[in-house]
Amino acid sequence: MSSLDSQMESVVSRAREAFNTGKLHTYEQRMQYLKSIDTFLVEQEQAIVDALHADLGKPTTESLLWEVQICRSEIALAQNNLRSWMATKPASRTFVYHLAGDSAGLKPEPYGVVTVIAPWNYPIYLTLMPVVGAIAAGNCVVIKPSEVSENCSNLYRDVFTKYLPQDCFPVVTGGIPETTALLRQRVDYIFYTGSTFVGRVVMKAAAEHLTPVTLELGGKCPVYLDERSDIEMMADRVVSAKCMNAGQICVCIDYILCTREVQDRLIAAMKKALHKFFGDNMQKSSCYGRIVNDRHFQRLTSMLDSSNGTVAIDMGSDRADRFMGLKVLSDVSADDSVMKDEIFGPILPIVPIRDADEAIQFIRSKEKPLAAYVYSPDTATVEKFAEFTSSGALVANDAMAHLPLASLPFGGVGQSGIGSYHGKASFDTFSHHKSILVRHQNMEFLNKLLRYPPYSDAGSNLLRHSLYRTPDEGILLYLKALVMATLALLGLTATTFRSRH
Ligand code: NAD
Repeated sequence: MSSLDSQMESVVSRAREAFNTGKLHTYEQRMQYLKSIDTFLVEQEQAIVDALHADLGKPTTESLLWEVQICRSEIALAQNNLRSWMATKPASRTFVYHLAGDSAGLKPEPYGVVTVIAPWNYPIYLTLMPVVGAIAAGNCVVIKPSEVSENCSNLYRDVFTKYLPQDCFPVVTGGIPETTALLRQRVDYIFYTGSTFVGRVVMKAAAEHLTPVTLELGGKCPVYLDERSDIEMMADRVVSAKCMNAGQICVCIDYILCTREVQDRLIAAMKKALHKFFGDNMQKSSCYGRIVNDRHFQRLTSMLDSSNGTVAIDMGSDRADRFMGLKVLSDVSADDSVMKDEIFGPILPIVPIRDADEAIQFIRSKEKPLAAYVYSPDTATVEKFAEFTSSGALVANDAMAHLPLASLPFGGVGQSGIGSYHGKASFDTFSHHKSILVRHQNMEFLNKLLRYPPYSDAGSNLLRHSLYRTPDEGILLYLKALVMATLALLGLTATTFRSRH
C-alpha cells in the first residue's frame, strides 16, 4: 500500500469512528456544525474574497454574492427546516395495513462517511454547498477542494479546519494522486463536481465498492434567441452571464443559436453592452475576472485559433495577466472545432440556424446539457423547448438565473450528470430514506383468517382482493362481502332479492 493510500485510509477510518460515536445523530449537533460553517463564512469573508481574487481575479461583488452569500442562504435554509427534514414522513397504507393498525413511514438516515470532491471555478460555493447538505443529513464529510484554485485550497487547509472537528470533517488537499488515493477508499457516498471525463474516473472507482454517487458535470449549454425578443435587453443578459467569472461556469452560455439576421443585431447590441458594463478597457475593469491558470489560458487560445468562425468581437487578451476578454465568433458551423468540447471560458460562438425547430433538432443532436436557455417572448416557443429538448434545467429569457432558487434541484442529465442538490434536494441526496413498517401485535385474528396455512379459499380470496386496495376501496369491498355473506346466511341471493322487489 502506498503512503498516500494509508494516509487516506486513516482519514476515512477516523471519520468512520467519529460517525459511529453518533456525533451527528442529533438535531442540535448538526445545527452546531452548520453554524460553525456560517461563522467561518462571516469571520473569514475578507480572506475568502482575497483568495478568490488571487485564484481567479474574482470581483468582490461576485465573490460575496455567488460564493459567500449563496452558502450562507443554504445554511439558513437548512437550519430553518432541519427539524421537519429529519422527521420520519408517514407513508400511505393500503386497506389491510390500515385495518391492522400498522404504521408506515420513511425515515431519512445519513449514509455515514461521504466525500465531497470539488472543482476550482467556484471554490467556496461548489465545496461548501454539498458539505452543508451532507452535514444537515447527519454525515461525516471528507472534503477535497480543488488543487487548481490553490489559494482557496490553502484557506481550507489552514483556516477552515479550525472551525470544525477534524475527525468528522477532514480536509484533504493535493491533486490527482491524492484524489485517486481517496477514491480507492471505501466510503458511503461520493459527491463529485467537475468534468465529465473525471466523472467517469469517479464512477469507476465508486463501482469497486458499490458506492452511490452524485456527479455534477459539465457540457455545452445552448441559447436559442428568437427574433421577436428585445435584442438589446437579451444582449445585456447574455453578456453579463457570459462574462461572469470570465465564462468559467458550468451553466455558462456555451453557444448561441439564432438566425443570421438576429446574429447581426445581437453582435451590435453585445458591443454596446460590453462597453456599458466594462468601459473602454475590459482588462482594467474591476468587474471582470481572470483565467484560472496558464494551462487553461493555452487551452482556450488553441480552441480559438483552430476555429473557422469569424471573430466578430474581441475584447483583447494578455497572457501575463491571465486576462482574456470576451471573444464572439460569428457564422460558426455546426462541425467547427469550438463546437466539440465545452468551452468553459470567454469564447462565444454563434451558429446561424433557420428557426426554432432547427435549433431544437441541433440541441437534440448533441449530448444533453446541464442547462438550456431560450430567449423568446412567446410562451408556445418556450414550451416547445421545454417539451422537445432534454437538459438538467431549462431557463427562459435569462441564463444561470435558476441557481439561487433552492426550490429547483440543481443537476444534470445524461453526460452532464447524475443526481441533484440545493436546498431540500441536498438533504435528500445525502440521506438514505429508510422504509419503516411497524406492525401491530394485537390483530392476530386477521392473520389467522387471511394469511396463515392451511389456506382457505375465502381467506385468500379476500386477501387477494384487498391487499392492494386503498382504505376506501377496501371498506367498500368488505361491506359488499358482508352484505353477500348476510344474504347467503338468510338463504337469499342478490338475484332473488332483486326479483322480490
Ligand atoms: P478540477 O480539475 O479542479 O477537478 C475537480 C476535482 O477532480 C479536483 O478535486 C481534482 O483533484 C479531481 N481530479 C481531477 N482530475 C482527476 C483525475 N484524473 N483523477 C481523479 N481526480 C481528479 O476541475 P475541472 O474538472 O477542470 O472543472 C471543470 C469542469 O467541471 C467543467 O467541465 C465544468 O462544466 C464542470 N463543473 C460542473 C459543475 C456542476 O455543478 N455541474 C460546477 C462546476 C464545474
